[in-house]
Amino acid sequence: MKTKVLSSVGAVTFLFIVLVFWIQGGGQAAENSVPMEFDATPFRTYNAVVPGSPLKLRHFISESNEINVSSSLIMGEHEVIVVATQATKFASERLADEIEKTGLKLTYVLLGHPHLDHSQGASVLKQRFPDAKFVASPAVSRLQKLRMSDDDARAVKRFGDNAAVPSVPFEPIDYETLTIEGREIQLWNDQYGDVGIGHEDEPHTVVYIPDLKALLPNDICYFGAHMMMGGSTKESRAKWKQQLRDYMEMDLEVVIPGHIPRSISAQMTAKGVLEHSHSYIEAYEAALDSSETSDEVIVKMLNQYPQLEHTSALYLGTYLNFKETHRLFFNPRLESAVAYLPKSFVSWADQMMFNAKQEELN
Ligand SMILES: [Zn+2]
Repeated sequence: MKTKVLSSVGAVTFLFIVLVFWIQGGGQAAENSVPMEFDATPFRTYNAVVPGSPLKLRHFISESNEINVSSSLIMGEHEVIVVATQATKFASERLADEIEKTGLKLTYVLLGHPHLDHSQGASVLKQRFPDAKFVASPAVSRLQKLRMSDDDARAVKRFGDNAAVPSVPFEPIDYETLTIEGREIQLWNDQYGDVGIGHEDEPHTVVYIPDLKALLPNDICYFGAHMMMGGSTKESRAKWKQQLRDYMEMDLEVVIPGHIPRSISAQMTAKGVLEHSHSYIEAYEAALDSSETSDEVIVKMLNQYPQLEHTSALYLGTYLNFKETHRLFFNPRLESAVAYLPKSFVSWADQMMFNAKQEELN
């Protein structure tokens, strides 16, 4: 009798192990995120609007399969400050080449948003420019440092050999301004936008450069791309939209979005970036309010915005908003296994996984 029970336990355990291996085998392989061809659109450079100011701004953008990440080079006559790095190793090497081409000394690399698509590239920049200081506001620095090992693991899973690892810590600076050759750059440390698995009030630092009438809001704004709405709430979105309306009141020449396909960068205007971001949030809210499921929201947004790139943000953000944590693995085998489980159990497990991740990363 005892032997029979033991052998059934053994058989169940064996089947369970086989099931786990089968599910794991269905996981998403690392993307081929090294571009084979390059968008020929040149990087745009903006000149100071204040007479006598030496400042210029160059907008570096990675390719579509590198998630269209913006980095900004704020250039003086002798120094350059970089705002936001890149997601992958190869994109970061090209960003480093672009910095080198300026012939200027890289003094600061500033991070305004503690998400890996903007922070991982520091790993490459640190090697190429060992004297540069990697800085962020105290709140952004705390979260970036806390998330480093998780970010490294996710970057390797997503980008394979092209992951820019290991993460470099961005040290806290409690400044409201930085100067480059005596010209002021303002740091607004209390702005809100994309949060992902963070808390809805996760702060962003927005850079405002008066000499250029330029605003660098990173993932508070996108252009020609789906926006990451995951983790936002009705209240946080109201605040987010109000900020955008406040920016619209400013006299701005340039607004650099966190993500933009380089192919349309020539069409990018300050007003266009702010309007796209504001209307996208409104459309997303309307889709949320009129849908029962995450899939419905996704279909509505894809139908409304068939031309937008960066659909990964739409999928990720919507799964997060519906607390469908298991879908963040993008594993079809896991999803088909989950279909056999009771819905209440799946929701409970999703919520548990979400809570654990949120606690670990915040
Ligand atoms: Zn981003």
